[in-house]
Amino acid sequence: MPILPIIKYPSKVLRQKAKKITDPLDLEVQKLIKNMAETLRVANGMGLAAPQVGKLMRLCIIENENNLYVLVNPKITAKSKKRIILEEGCLSFPKKFLKIERPEEVKVRFLDEKGKQVKIKARGLFARAIQHEIDHLDGKLFIDYKK
Ligand code: ZN
Repeated sequence: MPILPIIKYPSKVLRQKAKKITDPLDLEVQKLIKNMAETLRVANGMGLAAPQVGKLMRLCIIENENNLYVLVNPKITAKSKKRIILEEGCLSFPKKFLKIERPEEVKVRFLDEKGKQVKIKARGLFARAIQHEIDHLDGKLFIDYKK
């Protein structure tokens, strides 16, 4: 499977809003998911959003405790009041790490790679990765949180 080039800041692509996916089972989407998974594995990252590989689609993947989560059209439905500071990195910003404050827990709804509706509650690093990757779908980057 081909490794996709990861788009680096300050490319304008990273600032664009991604479009909703109408059919997660579409062959082009399925191929993109596989290629993104391989790209994430090789880059040794925790998460990757489609705009980071130049595809303006609402799709991101997250590796958590050896499970790969594929989030199509994800939406955060709840955030905890409690916020924590964690260090974040981003494959579009090599070697840059920032301490950022965000909600500790989130609930998120999405379609998985089979098109099935999924709802999960995540906390800690996993919740952090979800929030970071969904931001990418709206053209938002972790440097935007810097005080
Ligand atoms: Zn990122």
